[in-house]
Amino acid sequence: MCVNSDFLIKEADRCVKCGLCLPHCPTYQLARDEAESPRGRIALIQGWAAGDLQADRSMLAHLDHCLLCRRCEGACPSGVNYSELMDAARAYLPRTTPRWLPDVLADGGRQRMAMKLAAVAGKSGMQAWFPSAIVRRMLRIAATLSASESGSSTSLKKYYAAAKTQQGEVAVFTGCMGATVDRRAIAAAIEIITASGYAVSIPPSQQCCGAMHAHAGYRQRAAEQKRTNLALFAGKGYDSLITLSSGCGSYLADISELDCTVMDAGAFIQQIGGIGSLPLTEIRRKIAIFLPCTLAAMGQQKQVMALLQDLPGAELIELQGMGCCGGAGLHLLTQPHTGEQLVEPLIHQLAASQATLVATTNSGCALQLQTSANKAGLGISVVHPLELVVQQLQKT
Ligand code: SF4
Ligand code: SF4
Repeated sequence: MCVNSDFLIKEADRCVKCGLCLPHCPTYQLARDEAESPRGRIALIQGWAAGDLQADRSMLAHLDHCLLCRRCEGACPSGVNYSELMDAARAYLPRTTPRWLPDVLADGGRQRMAMKLAAVAGKSGMQAWFPSAIVRRMLRIAATLSASESGSSTSLKKYYAAAKTQQGEVAVFTGCMGATVDRRAIAAAIEIITASGYAVSIPPSQQCCGAMHAHAGYRQRAAEQKRTNLALFAGKGYDSLITLSSGCGSYLADISELDCTVMDAGAFIQQIGGIGSLPLTEIRRKIAIFLPCTLAAMGQQKQVMALLQDLPGAELIELQGMGCCGGAGLHLLTQPHTGEQLVEPLIHQLAASQATLVATTNSGCALQLQTSANKAGLGISVVHPLELVVQQLQKT
């Protein structure tokens, strides 16, 4: 029996094998195979933790295919904490994701270096020279990022005062990638939140939220990142910790030591009054909305949809896929085939909708949708919902 199997067995035993989660699971919808379902994966973990199953390649592959989208948790009547169970299992089982991958992606300096390398490699056709398929994919994605990165190059300040009588103060989480990939969304959030009467703090030296390392089985590194972030955000009197990527938000929302609510930026703005009173010009465009599984895990989809419904002149179309776009953190690099299958119905809907813009709250989903739309030849831009709001603000 595995030494640290007590938690695994206890949590897995909460599963009553009812199967209610199966129709909600994207990988089960694709494969129609019990081992690719939440119930099947729980049974595999149970069997291994009890010493009845070997952690062979087939078992590890079924566990690796899990997207950690947490759709199953929302459907489970027994309250199985599936994501915690899977993170714990991956920490104890042989690791299949190389440690360098989350290390590189969670480090701002290395990300910038990868983007510069990708720009050079893209022009010279050097990508094909790299023997690792993961590195080739990383370079392709970094090239997409480099091409779409046109946000403000102004560095972020630590503090932005409220633009009218102060109602409170929030902190903005930039994490590891925010300052690179969410820069325009962060600028938009600052503009709208301060205009709504809240001060915004952006503590420097923030670390990755920890999701990438935790989901790959590197819990010690995730715990170090958590400690650093807690020192920056806990006990500071913030009304909320605001995230521009719901992938980070859903992970941070589970940290019990954080003494402020973790909110998606759009959901927070909706909660404090929305955008109805802002001087907005009509957008007059068809906009496709993709509400990520991570936003559903935060329970904040309705607020974001309501916010966008107040955008004057917007014709909204909600994209309905299989529950996950296939971006799913490191899956974007390690399981590209599954990602392509999961994003395909979304790209078909997009093409049929004739929308020219897609709004989504997670940078991983934005990257997955933008890369796939480019590949399909659709002239579509994927943006954060708050970028749309700020574009329509009448400047006085
Ligand atoms: S987290 Fe998502 S992919 Fe994984 S078992 Fe649950 S529903 Fe399926
Ligand atoms: S819904 Fe919950 S209890 Fe039922 S099979 Fe799925 S994980 Fe187990």
